[in-house]
Formats: sequence, structure tokens, C-alpha cells
Amino acid sequence: RSSAEKFEFQAEVSRLMDILINSLYSNKDIFLRELISNASDALDKIRFLSLTDKEVLGDGDTAKLEIQMKLDKDKKILSIRDRGIGMTKEDLIKNLGTIAKSGTSAFVEKMQTSGDLNLIGQFGVGFYSVYLVADYVEVISKHNDDKQYVWESKADGAFAISEDTWNEPLGRGTEIRLHLREEAGEYLEESKLKDLVKRYSEFINFPINLWSTKEIDVEVPADEDDSTEEEDKPEEEDTEKGDDEESEDKPKTKTVKETTQEWELLNDVKAIWLRSPKDVTDEEYTKFYHSLAKDFGEEKPMSWSHFSAEGDVEFKAVLFVPPKAPHDLYESYYNNNKSNLKLYVRRVFISDEFDELLPKYLNFLKGLVDSDTLPLNVSREMLQQHSSLKTIKKKLIRKALDMIRKLYEEDPDESTDKDKKDIEESGDNEKKGQYARFWNEFGKSIKLGIIEDAANRNRLAKLLRFESSKSDGKLTSLDQYISRMKSGQKDIFYITGSDKEQLAKSPFLERLIKKGYEVIYFTDPVDEYLMQYLMDYEDRKFQNVSKEGVKIADSGVKELKEAFKDLTKWWKSALASWNVDDVKVSNRLADTPCVVVTNKYGWSGNMERIMHSQTL
Ligand code: ADP
Ligand code: MG
Repeated sequence: RSSAEKFEFQAEVSRLMDILINSLYSNKDIFLRELISNASDALDKIRFLSLTDKEVLGDGDTAKLEIQMKLDKDKKILSIRDRGIGMTKEDLIKNLGTIAKSGTSAFVEKMQTSGDLNLIGQFGVGFYSVYLVADYVEVISKHNDDKQYVWESKADGAFAISEDTWNEPLGRGTEIRLHLREEAGEYLEESKLKDLVKRYSEFINFPINLWSTKEIDVEVPADEDDSTEEEDKPEEEDTEKGDDEESEDKPKTKTVKETTQEWELLNDVKAIWLRSPKDVTDEEYTKFYHSLAKDFGEEKPMSWSHFSAEGDVEFKAVLFVPPKAPHDLYESYYNNNKSNLKLYVRRVFISDEFDELLPKYLNFLKGLVDSDTLPLNVSREMLQQHSSLKTIKKKLIRKALDMIRKLYEEDPDESTDKDKKDIEESGDNEKKGQYARFWNEFGKSIKLGIIEDAANRNRLAKLLRFESSKSDGKLTSLDQYISRMKSGQKDIFYITGSDKEQLAKSPFLERLIKKGYEVIYFTDPVDEYLMQYLMDYEDRKFQNVSKEGVKIADSGVKELKEAFKDLTKWWKSALASWNVDDVKVSNRLADTPCVVVTNKYGWSGNMERIMHSQTL
């Protein structure tokens, strides 16, 4: 088209498209759920705007919040249309080509290593999956603030945008036309589309309609000889007495099959979270999780919790622990507030970027909250300030921590990941080692929680796992540590460092271990910070054994102290220029003659190491 403006795809986007278009990937189905998910997002957006301004919906068909699919078998076109918010010309340019999202290159990398396309939606580049099945795509869109435009591309590095003067006006929303490739013919079958919607888009909260072919029975006037029909239809002169004139033995009509087309609703729009938990099957929760998390792998979530809160603040919620941590969970931890909960108010989707619902350290959870108490007709900013949110947040944290605790209680196997692999290989992995698995994926979040959430510190400390001089290669907990404490032992002993083999050989531990004390090995850089916040647990203090203050029951130290008084004094003055605070006789060593320990309030040697390398 001569009036079309041409644009080049941003380089990473172009690369992604190349990979998709040349992919030999067999499961190309995913494009449909990505398009439906985009349509649903667009509908959510217009519905949200309509809460404060009814006008935006328009009238007649334009106001219908739905998704429609149509097939043109002759031209091999599949089109998907929504009456969502639509895109302005600028939106089309930016969203579909010129601005690469942060996930683009991450996804390209992932694609090349794993070849798994299932996660495309999670990386924010789902739209481009259309090129798995189409070699030419048109996006027709009408936003309330702009004219109707057509975006089109053959995935040849460029796209074009034109003002739409030839298609039927959409009213509002977006129609995506896929000109299917030769080998993608299966997507022209109605049954295939119905099947895919059932499988992947079951939890879309808007009606999805397919313009489908129906065989219907029609009554036509019976004819003496069946050969000719249309031409000589007996148009009898009909009178009011027509009925009486029919004789009983002569059939007046007969039934024939005819095909027509009509809209067929493919999903029943039911909100799973409104149902009673006992009526929802595990399989339904799993599917719901997949659609929420845009993660369509095979894996089940590790756990979930579905509950409702009553009283002053009413809401329903479903929380999931994902099977795996997302690729960038801790990468973006400090500059990303976004929780993974979707907020609904009375069934209306409000936002999935609400940072007031969960504290940062629980951002690994996925889920949904639907509140009847929050007001519907206010802006997001005002909602963010609403007093009920505090109550909701408090209950969500409580429930989340309960869910994680139960994960342990139901399956207390604490084999480490290595053992876990053996179990997996032996095929008996349905439940075993769930908590170790959880710890492996999300343990760091629990530690960050201990640092950040003073109110729940004790609850979180219960969830803490580590290895120790007595844990025998398995994970162990503070409660288990306490149950093994020697009589007379007051403090919980730990040591920090970069790996446990090295720690086990540390001179700081010699005597303690010989005497049968247990020492916790903290080997994660975050542990140093953790222990600055975790001062005590169940009335017991923590003692870093590389610092001063280790108290173990022993006799004879007093005498030794006396006997070596002068020597220690001399040492102290001799080492004054080395910034040594004190020199003491100690009972913590067995074979090593002496050791440098850190002041109680100073950084441990390990912390110094971390600060030097800044590895958190
Ligand atoms: P994501 O949905 O994760 O943002 P996509 O690649 O699927 O990533 O879509 C890119 C963007 O294009 C969307 O964020 C949205 O702004 C826009 N978009 C795609 N489809 C539609 C649609 N049907 N209606 C309105 N905007 C759309
Ligand atoms: Mg999308």
C-alpha cells in the first residue's frame, strides 16, 4: 500500500522472529493462548477504565466485552478479535516491534539452550509466537483516542502501518489476522480450535466465541418425488382453514440437514476462586496455575492455598508455590516491587502490579485476590492507599507461611538436592523431598524475609533450613538443632563461610565438635546479613564460633588464664599495632595452637570476604 509507513523491528525482536519462523518446534499450539491472553488483557484494561468512566465502553456491540474467532478456509485466514482497549498508532509501533522488552534477549537465549517455547508468555514476547504458524500477519486496531490502523508484517525484518480505510470499522478493539502457512492447516479446523481453548484458555474471564458451522435439522415441505426441491415447491394457496384440508396419510413436511454458521461459546466463564475448595480438583488448580503464571510446562505447582476471609475485610484468594523459581527472581529483587498476585475487586480485574499485597520476599508466589470490600470506582492510586489492604496483606502473609509450613509437615523428608536426584531417577518422586525442593528454589526468599519482616521473623525462622556438623548431608532446622543441644548448652553455634567442607575443617570448630556440640554451617553470602537480624530463636542466642564469646562447659580454663596472664599481656602489647583488641586463653581449640577471632560486634572474616567481592 502506497500510504503505508515502514518501520524496522528492533534488532532483538527481529532475531526472535527469525528463530520462531524457522523453528522446527512441534508444539506450535501456543500461539493461540498467547493471542487469547493478550485479548483478555486488553478487555481487562477497558473494563477497568469503565469503572470510573462508563462512556469508554461505547454502545451496541462495541460495548460487549468478548473475544471472537473466525476462520476463512479458502483464504487460509484465522482471525481473533477482541473488543478490548485497542492500540493507537503509536501503541502499534511501540508494542509490536520497535521496543524490545527486557525479556526478549533472555528468552532468545533460553530458546536456544532449551528449545522450549512454553515460557514465551512469561518473557513478555508472546505476540511474536504468531509467526510459528503464519507467514503474514495483520493487526487491525481501534483505540478510543485514535483512528483505526493496520499493522502488517511478513516477518522480513520490517513492518508497515497504514490508516485503515478499507476494512470494516471495529468500533473498538483489535483483530489479528493470521495468514496461515501451508503446514499450519490444522488451525483451520474448528475442532482443533475448540480443543485448544478447552485445554489452555479455560480460565479466561471473558466469553470466547467461535464462528462455527452447525448442521441443523430443517423442516421442509414434503414433496411427492424427492428429486427436485427448490423449483417446484408447492406454494399452496393458504387459507385459515389450511389445517383442516391436510389429510392424515399425506406427510406435509420432512426433515433435512442443512449447515449454517453461528457463534458458539467455547468456555464457560467461571471464576475458580469463587467455588468452594472442596469442589475444585487438583487438576483444575494445576491448570489454573498454568494460566495464571503463563507457564504451560507439565509441572504441577508445589503447593497451593485457596481460602476466603470474612469479617471487616472480605476477600477470596488462591496462592501458589511455583514448581521452580523464575529466571530473574533474585536478579531484580531490589529494584522490582511487583508482586505476582492479581488483584480483582468483585470479579473485575484491577491490576497485577500492586505492590501492597505481599511483601517483596514473597514475590515468588503466584496467585489471585478478589475482594468485595475494596471500592470499585476509584483510581489505582487511591486503591493502593485503602486501609483494607493492610488487613489483606497481613492475612495473605499468614496464609502463605502456613502453606509453606504444611509443605514440610506433609513431607518432612529433608534430603538434599543430590539425594533428591537419586529419588527422581528411581522414579519415586511424587511427594518425597518436597520441602528440600522448595528450599532449593526459594530458600533465599525465606532468609530475605527474616531480614525484612520483623513481625514474622520467628515464623520464618521455623522455615529456615541449613546443614550442620551433625546433619549428615541433609537439611536440618532450628527446632531439630535445639532438640539435639547438649545439656548445659545455652547458645546456638554457627559458622559462616563459602563452603561446608572447608568449614568442617576450621580450627574454630575443633574443640566444639570433639566435645559433641553441633555447629550450623552457613554458606550462602546472604547468611551473614541474615545473622545480623536473627539474634535469637526460642530464647536461645546465636553465637558465631569465629567470634569472641563462645561458652562451652569446661574446667581448668580459670587456672590456665592465671598461669598465662603475663604471656597474654605481652602478646597484646606486641600486637597492638596490628589492631588486635585482646589476647585471651580459650578452651575452643583442640589441636591448633592459636586462632584469630573477631570482635562480637565486628564483621566476621567471611563478611569481610563478601564485602570485598560484593557478591550478594
Ligand atoms: P505481553 O502480553 O506479555 O505484554 P505480548 O508480546 O503478548 O507481551 O504483547 C505485547 C504488547 O502488545 C502487549 O503488552 C500489549 O500492549 C500489546 N497488545 C498485544 N495484543 C493486544 C490486543 N489484543 N489488544 C491491545 N493490545 C495488545
Ligand atoms: Mg501477551
